Amino acid sequence: MQAHAPHPREPLSRELLLIGGGHSHVAVVRALGMRPVPGLRVTVVSRDVHTPYSGMLPGLVAGHYGFDDCHIDLRPLCEASGVRLIHGEVDALDPARQSVRIAGRESLRYDWASINIGSRPALGGIEGATAHGISVKPIDRFLAHWLALLEDLRANPRPCRLLIVGGGAAGVEIALACAWRARQALGAQAALFSVGIVNAAPVLLPSHNALVRRYFRRELERRGIVLHSGARVAAVDAQGVMLADGRRLQAEQLVWATQAGAPAWPAAAGLACDANGFVRVDACLRSLSHPNVFAAGDIAALPEPCPKSGVYAVREGQALALGLRRVALGGEPVVYRPQRRFLSLVSTGDRRAVVSRGPLFAAGAWAWRWKDRIDRAFMAMYRVEPAAPPEPGEAPAMRCGGCAAKIGGDALGRVLADLARPPREGVEAGMDIGDDAAVLAPPPGQRLIQSVDYFRGFIDDPFLVGQVAAVHALGDLLAMGARPHSALAIATVPYATPRVMEQTLGQLMQGALKTLDAEGVALIGGHSSEGAELAFGLSVNGYAAPGEILYKSGLRDGHALVLTKAIGTGTLLAANGAAAAVGRWIDGALAGMTQSSRAAADILRRHGAAACTDITGFGLLGHLLEMLRASGTGARLSIDAVPVLEGARECLGRGYRSSLHESNRANLAALVQPLSAAPAQALEVLLDPQTAGGLLAGIPLARAQSCVAELRAAGYPACAVIGSCSAAAGPGGVLID
Ligand SMILES: Cc1cc2nc3c(=O)[nH]c(=O)nc-3n(C[C@H](O)[C@H](O)[C@H](O)COP(=O)(O)OP(=O)(O)OC[C@H]3O[C@@H](n4cnc5c(N)ncnc54)[C@H](O)[C@@H]3O)c2cc1C
Repeated sequence: MQAHAPHPREPLSRELLLIGGGHSHVAVVRALGMRPVPGLRVTVVSRDVHTPYSGMLPGLVAGHYGFDDCHIDLRPLCEASGVRLIHGEVDALDPARQSVRIAGRESLRYDWASINIGSRPALGGIEGATAHGISVKPIDRFLAHWLALLEDLRANPRPCRLLIVGGGAAGVEIALACAWRARQALGAQAALFSVGIVNAAPVLLPSHNALVRRYFRRELERRGIVLHSGARVAAVDAQGVMLADGRRLQAEQLVWATQAGAPAWPAAAGLACDANGFVRVDACLRSLSHPNVFAAGDIAALPEPCPKSGVYAVREGQALALGLRRVALGGEPVVYRPQRRFLSLVSTGDRRAVVSRGPLFAAGAWAWRWKDRIDRAFMAMYRVEPAAPPEPGEAPAMRCGGCAAKIGGDALGRVLADLARPPREGVEAGMDIGDDAAVLAPPPGQRLIQSVDYFRGFIDDPFLVGQVAAVHALGDLLAMGARPHSALAIATVPYATPRVMEQTLGQLMQGALKTLDAEGVALIGGHSSEGAELAFGLSVNGYAAPGEILYKSGLRDGHALVLTKAIGTGTLLAANGAAAAVGRWIDGALAGMTQSSRAAADILRRHGAAACTDITGFGLLGHLLEMLRASGTGARLSIDAVPVLEGARECLGRGYRSSLHESNRANLAALVQPLSAAPAQALEVLLDPQTAGGLLAGIPLARAQSCVAELRAAGYPACAVIGSCSAAAGPGGVLID
């Protein structure tokens, strides 16, 4: 798929919300990216940014595939499709208000919602089931557990019995994959490891023909996997399981691969659901009770029951994409016709597979190769061809400005009503008063310290933009040693209908408030306007006693330079905009960008910080030079000690740079020759502009290590001593080690 499908210019007027990034919704995203519906905003909310592709999961567990071989990266897919991606988990839906709740975030309204959240093994109220064992889904948690177990068994050899509950295709494939991987990973110790399957049904693989079942029974036998069929688990404890017939099976490790179960929230929302909590839909995948809600994949209960399998979820995705498109254009959805029989390629863990279709059976290594080709071809459809980075010297895309107009009073009023907070000490007139300006009463003897920041939306998620903008703005105050007190917001919201603009503004403000509330900062006013693109900023106020203020000019020879967060956000966000960044890299960058520097500032101060700044647009080198010049000293910087976000060097190497990067290049002139062995390429990251970057402080050398230890313990894992102040470099000069 090619990055950057053309996006409609028509103002956004309707919202399609895709809940879950499963097999069906990736098809919807791709289809709507290729042929967007004018005026329709499409948003995906997904708990995982990397969607596992079911067909390759056993191969992943067996170690035949790496993570990226079998996960669809939603970040570039959405970016290339013009679809907004929210990394979050929906935990409630309100059909009357047409909104969903996202854990830890604001609510989102929709005109149409579609649910494709998969399923998890049902534990059927078995006593002790949630406390003991691990579900095979979500696969990322299972995989992490499985790899940690293998590592532990390698380090501390001991007998280990792994018991899989469930004798369907998932249970059998996982049993064979685990047995195979354990043999490879544990070598001579593998004899201490055993796998068993406990299956409530009288036969294994009940949905397959007798030849397939017989083949798998023999395969299990051949690998020493003990099968307990017709055995229902009644209770579980730390030693194993108790069966309904009173027998006991001992196991150190328990894995749940039972039939699919549904989360509680769709039924709690009042959507028509079947007895097991799956959303009942008509032949067009539309909720029987709420026609503007759709469901597909495992979570849907179709008029004619279908197997809970990825094959069906994929096919439903095609009908769903077409149907949602038609509905958004004012038409009727399309009928999904499930195939009666489908070809199954079930893997045996050892790079062989079994072909099963109706009465048909065949097996061999060729079947695995065939399956592998089909699976890789499927994955290739969702791999995005990134947009090329701009040529050196090429002007960045034109940016629109000066076209602002105020947002309508009604919409603004409703957003402001949601922002109400209890009064804050020192605010004599704030948003609750609704006057022309805020009135503050500064504490006696304190200095008022102010700063302002404003930037374009760096990611298509207004809540995150608001949250990060607040961290970014408060960073200035914290670097100065001030206690943040209050803030004014300024927002530019893209042209849309009032309802859509209201939602965008609400998301921005709720995001900003997530940060401000956590810091005890009062929002005391603001200004909003319409514009061509999303932009947001805050003017922030803080207080400090005169002796508490930390200026940039306080660095002295011998001070250790401590940096609290990893750098690289500029290049990562630039690559993300070109659909060229890996989703988990962006997750890593966002985790740093949403982290407050408040605790870091306190720790730096307690360790005798003499000067401090926050790393933002001028990059690490630019901000360091500002400090060195103000202090009249130089520095030695250890390039290898500088913490860099995962993926940042790779994005820089491929030419993805934030627009300020080139103007920061002039700072390289401050590097003192001769340079060490550090190649020019390695220095690029020092020029990378940061959003909500960390603090850089000068700390007395003797206290630097304890300072870093405390910072790491306080949740700044990347923080490091990156060098020291040194007269050897000359005033304003930097020697790279
Ligand atoms: C080990 C194993 C092997 C399997 N092998 C096969 C196979 O070979 N072939 C086959 O056809 N099927 C197979 N299956 C079954 C298959 O995995 C499922 O049927 C399939 O994944 C269902 O797809 P889906 O699109 O409904 O949901 P999923 O693929 O599970 O995707 C749901 C997505 O929604 C997200 N999500 C979940 N809850 C929320 C929430 N509340 N808010 C936001 N996002 C949410 C999740 O992050 C996830 O990305 C296997 C299953 C297992 C466990």
